[in-house]
Amino acid sequence: MLKQLQEQIERLKRTSATYVDARWYPVEEANSLMMWNGNLKNATASRESGVGIRVLYKGAWGFSASSDVGQVAALFDKAFDNARVAAQRVTFPIRLAEKDAIQALFNSPNRIDPFRVPLADKVSFLQDMDEKLKQPGVLQRVCELIFTRKQIVYVDSEGSQIEKNIIEVFPSIQVMGMDAQGVTHSRKYSPPRVGDTRGWETLDTQMFTENAERIVRELNQVLAAEDCPKEDRSVILLPGIMFLQTHETIGHALELDRILGYELSYAGGSFVTLGDFGHLRYGSTKLTARADATLPNSPGSFGYDDDGVPAQDNLLIDKGILVGAITGRQMVEEANARARKQIFNGSGGANRATAFYRVPIERMTNINIDPGDDGSLDDIVKGTEKGIILDGEKSWSIGSNREQFHFATDIGWLVEEGQVTRVVKNSTYKGETLKFYNSLSAVGGPSTWQVQYVNNCGKGQPNQDMQLGHGIPVCRFDHVRIGE
Ligand SMILES: [Zn+2]
Repeated sequence: MLKQLQEQIERLKRTSATYVDARWYPVEEANSLMMWNGNLKNATASRESGVGIRVLYKGAWGFSASSDVGQVAALFDKAFDNARVAAQRVTFPIRLAEKDAIQALFNSPNRIDPFRVPLADKVSFLQDMDEKLKQPGVLQRVCELIFTRKQIVYVDSEGSQIEKNIIEVFPSIQVMGMDAQGVTHSRKYSPPRVGDTRGWETLDTQMFTENAERIVRELNQVLAAEDCPKEDRSVILLPGIMFLQTHETIGHALELDRILGYELSYAGGSFVTLGDFGHLRYGSTKLTARADATLPNSPGSFGYDDDGVPAQDNLLIDKGILVGAITGRQMVEEANARARKQIFNGSGGANRATAFYRVPIERMTNINIDPGDDGSLDDIVKGTEKGIILDGEKSWSIGSNREQFHFATDIGWLVEEGQVTRVVKNSTYKGETLKFYNSLSAVGGPSTWQVQYVNNCGKGQPNQDMQLGHGIPVCRFDHVRIGE
């Protein structure tokens, strides 16, 4: 198959194609199980394979894909025909930033392949967890396991040949209960990165048991709590909500295709303009953010993107100043051309597709906030006069250009004069993105930093659900409106 792909790439190169690449998925498997109140509500397994071809001709892309790999030549011809048609309507001729030809193999770290674990063991793990969650106050218990395995072979007309083998494991446990007013509340645990692998071996029963006890205890505290006050306070965001704040108002806002106006679905635009790079004060000097696809053991680290560009660690915001974006080969060329100066020096290696039948677009890698020098959570609480600690993503609403936001969280703990006083329910906060990040007044040290995994970042039409990570410390922001 690989030889056939290379022969076809050579064939199109001898005609007038500018560039050709192929992504062959010999196998992609998914297995997901969900137990609801002790019943196995869902157990699905799927498997697919196929190949996707991109051809660049006279500044336009053509794409074709099929799970039938018996007609490879016809598939390349179809992609080329599509590019020829698109070339008649091109408004901004596509150019690709330079890259090196690479021969490489990337394997995501895991010891036990979850696809070799018997179904009975997976169900038994869910039953164990369900038993732990079966406690007073809990009306609904949801335990979930999601496994994926992909083998991707990439070849292009510039001499690259890359194979990737990626296994992902996404477990979660959740409890729900009802308060005296009939309102449902929830606490959830999806483990952050633990250790250096993420195969079946990461499903550590003791770790899940401790967290099952914690989320049941916290749910009951929320059920008995009073409402979050409506006022201005300092908000101390734990990684369990700060990752989503970062995802929505730094990550998505800094995808270069969005900045260029190409991705307008799902609160699609960005308030950031090409003139902002190197100048815009995005946040206080305590804010340093990066797109780090070299972070070990995270779904946002994939070795090489779907343009064949190696994973990189790129600064996005340096001590508060906007310096970078999430980029691929195509958009950096267009951005530099439109700005009539070189803002971006080559691709940032962030072009990814979710499947062989989808085209790569700019996706978050690991969008991380650097740990700061404000110590532990306790240290930050001690230095807070009037605040609230928030955790758990309950709901989120984002302005159409990511310029404002409103988040609700699963739990809040009020802080008065340096002490945690009590739990509150229905906690929310809102703000304007730039004003909010400029009010960042404390960033926790490495002890507070956690890598949270995201399994379902949606982008593109048709939709592409992507996996990534966020390395996040505890962060405190001042004068934030809460409770409404
Ligand atoms: Zn997303």
